[in-house]
Amino acid sequence: MARTNASMRRVRLLAGVTGLAVASTGVAYAADISETGGANRHDGDQTAEIAAQVKFGKAKNVILFIGDGMGDSEITVARNYLVGASGQLEGIDSLPLTGQYTTYALHKGDDPLTTGDDTGKPDYVTDSAASGTGWSTGTKTYNGAISVGLDGTTAHQTLLEWAKTQGLKTGDITTAEVQDATPAVQLSHVADRGCYTPVGQTVTVDGKSQKKDTAKCPGQKSIEEQILDTRADVVMGGGKGWFDAVAANGRSVLQNAQDAGFQVPTTKAEMTAVTKADQSAPVLGLFASGNMQTRYKATPATADGYAKPAAECQTNDTAPDGTSVTWPGTQPTLADMTSKAIGLLDNDKGFFLQVEGASIDKQDHAANACGQIGETKDLDEAVKVGMDFAKTHGDTLVIVTADHAHTSQIINAEDITGGSSVPLAGTYNLLTHDGTVETVAYGTAQLGGSQQHTGTQLRIAGFGPGAANAVGLSDQTDVFDTIKDALSGVGLDPAPSAGTTTKTVTVTKEVAPARLTSAVDSKVRTLAKQIRKAKGDRKAKLKAQLRAYRAVQRQLH
Ligand SMILES: [Zn+2]
Repeated sequence: MARTNASMRRVRLLAGVTGLAVASTGVAYAADISETGGANRHDGDQTAEIAAQVKFGKAKNVILFIGDGMGDSEITVARNYLVGASGQLEGIDSLPLTGQYTTYALHKGDDPLTTGDDTGKPDYVTDSAASGTGWSTGTKTYNGAISVGLDGTTAHQTLLEWAKTQGLKTGDITTAEVQDATPAVQLSHVADRGCYTPVGQTVTVDGKSQKKDTAKCPGQKSIEEQILDTRADVVMGGGKGWFDAVAANGRSVLQNAQDAGFQVPTTKAEMTAVTKADQSAPVLGLFASGNMQTRYKATPATADGYAKPAAECQTNDTAPDGTSVTWPGTQPTLADMTSKAIGLLDNDKGFFLQVEGASIDKQDHAANACGQIGETKDLDEAVKVGMDFAKTHGDTLVIVTADHAHTSQIINAEDITGGSSVPLAGTYNLLTHDGTVETVAYGTAQLGGSQQHTGTQLRIAGFGPGAANAVGLSDQTDVFDTIKDALSGVGLDPAPSAGTTTKTVTVTKEVAPARLTSAVDSKVRTLAKQIRKAKGDRKAKLKAQLRAYRAVQRQLH
């Protein structure tokens, strides 16, 4: 079975390479997806494969990847463009255990569209602040809230704060400003996500004078000051401009960071040169004044985009402040940051790391198909870095999910051209890896306005100990328990009994003694022989045992 799978995969891989070569010369796509079974993604029965991926025992490390605004639609848009409809994204699509989760926020106050106070009732479309609070604290709250309850003041402990109390190293990285909602939910507690800097401050970010102070968060410290107080071992992203704000002691928040022992690399080269990150010298990497530069050049959707020739995405040559910079310039990519963070955090006691691909959301808001695809590709590469680490460190739980769904939809341009439907807003035609057109539509705001988040459930995918909790339908708040339980070993199900023991199932590849491996191998051979001779109930019993031993065998080899 295993050999058959491997050879089938090799065949598929070759077909994929052929497809790439053919597509690049502009000839019709030559894959076999028109044949019966040709588009199948599974290599035969998956039962044993899935069973082998259900890992028991405590996780030492957790890496949580968030694609901001990365709904199923955004994943599919990117997959079609980057690797073709039958292709597989190397990182995002590689996690074996997947499910769906709900993401709704809660109302705070009266919604004028209904009678009476709506406080505490579901608000079906969440923003990044409420959704992030959901997984970071296990608590549902209102849109705009950063790890506080409905009252705006009750601070709920975050996963990162809890991990610190357990002696784990911690990290929080993003391609947005580090003060932005998704990174902020692990590091701070404020009533409003806009409370970046101390009150009354105007600072220059991306060449513009801007104000995002604590006016809406009375009595609370700004997000960036709390980032310093929480003192994760590694925080990296953009948002350097906001640190020019002056704190109560008369020094800028950046100076206060440096005074407090933070290392502050501002380029990839400086980040690479960092050799340690701990409580005596934590890392605050700030690689852009505001959000970091996106990978692909903007392709704003237009009212007649569906009728234009399909086009490929180009590398971005303009930085957020308008200057001419070819991506990534001096910035690290998200994969670079992920790799560096893992290297700095990996230690005997374990670590918790959150990684956000932030601008899938921001480019979706701007109705920019290539923009969001480039950011999804960035996240995909970062996930691959995390998975490569997890595959060689069997005690690492990886979760890949998103915070909320978004607006982009793959539509049939022929229907619009034929007059049977009218696009609400903008469309854009992409020339995909398949060599055909993918029309992406944006219709949750007027063209030129900011496209809106949407309220559908999202994919959550997992790998490693505790990843079984991703399966089925869960809620965003379940992630809090999944990660906490995995890291603490509390509330985990015991190992199954049929032919296996806790000891054998929880043994990881690195520590598996050769003696145990050969014992399991020999047991598998013996069972296979016994099954050939056995009949009826005994045969079924032996088969169940064989399946369980093979699952263990796969973990050992
Ligand atoms: Zn958004």
